[in-house]
Amino acid sequence: MQQQLDVLKAALQSPKKIVITTHHKPDADALGSSLAMYRYLSKKGHTVQVITPSDYPEFLNWMQGNDTVLIYNETTATAAAEWVQTAEMIFCLDFNALSRINELGEWIRQSKATKVLIDHHLQPEAFADIMISDTSSAATCSLIYECIIGMGDRSYMDTYIGECIYAGIMTDTGSFRHPSTDRKVHQIVADLYSWNVDTPKVHRLIYDTNTEERLRLLGYALTEKLVILDEYYTAYIPLSKEDLSRFESKTGDTEGLVNYALSLEKVVFAAMIVEREDGVKISFRSKADFSVNEFARKHFQGGGHKNASGGKSLLSLEDTIKQFRDLIPQYKDELLDNLRKEKFLC
Ligand code: 5GP
Ligand code: MN
Repeated sequence: MQQQLDVLKAALQSPKKIVITTHHKPDADALGSSLAMYRYLSKKGHTVQVITPSDYPEFLNWMQGNDTVLIYNETTATAAAEWVQTAEMIFCLDFNALSRINELGEWIRQSKATKVLIDHHLQPEAFADIMISDTSSAATCSLIYECIIGMGDRSYMDTYIGECIYAGIMTDTGSFRHPSTDRKVHQIVADLYSWNVDTPKVHRLIYDTNTEERLRLLGYALTEKLVILDEYYTAYIPLSKEDLSRFESKTGDTEGLVNYALSLEKVVFAAMIVEREDGVKISFRSKADFSVNEFARKHFQGGGHKNASGGKSLLSLEDTIKQFRDLIPQYKDELLDNLRKEKFLC
């Protein structure tokens, strides 16, 4: 990593025009890493624009720099294209394949800018000139911290950057409970207090800002929609367009729902299958060593991490559910093995 950081540091010696982008439907790690990097690079004297490939949940709007973000859509496409075409450097944060950023992906592939990937997803695509990929890292935000410190720029850190970094680490570790939580995670967070990061405030801003509809959607999903396949230690939650519109669902309202399915004692594999405007989107979560990265890659054109991944399907919601259910029996032994492992770990 230090070698790549030295190359990056050299590239940042003179003021540059820089675009920062992150994955479709950014979460706290995606937006947090982008806005932390945005503030750091701006303070260093670069001209920087964050472009997101889509909108993102309102519970992230408190992040410093949020009002400068260019959200890609039909109206902003021309401005976004101009930024990408004229940028000297493009930072790609918290995603591992250009297909994850829709139209922006092809523009970036064709751009002559120096591309910098900072990410922690498994099996990254080799499209970047400078690749800071650490799949053992709990969050892209912790990599951003390591980059800033590793380039000798501790003095550029501040409360706002710290808040963004904390948000990404807190959410990607599931509030410090996923297996990715380790000594380094806590050491980084401990250091964030050097800049007076108000960690309970960040937690409240993200988790205690539910709308009534979102909370009722959760209740409905758990009472009416959750399906438990006892025999396969698997549970899933399907949600149709009608379900979402009934609860006036907004971007981010379904985030975290899949974790409730995984929290069942005898479940090692959980999925949430959601019918969206542009197709069916699936979130996968697992316990122990059952790799949902492999599962999503193999069957649903997706990927991610061992215990958290996503994918999509162009079939109808019903057919996607059927496809999912039909796949499960072949994993029965593996799922049972992992249930045993999980029990042993506890
Ligand atoms: P979520 O279920 O929260 O949307 O995503 C879980 C993890 O999988 C995140 O790290 C996310 O970036 C990744 N992920 C979600 N959907 C996809 C996908 O379609 N393709 C790939 N490669 N990764 C995904
Ligand atoms: Mn992440």
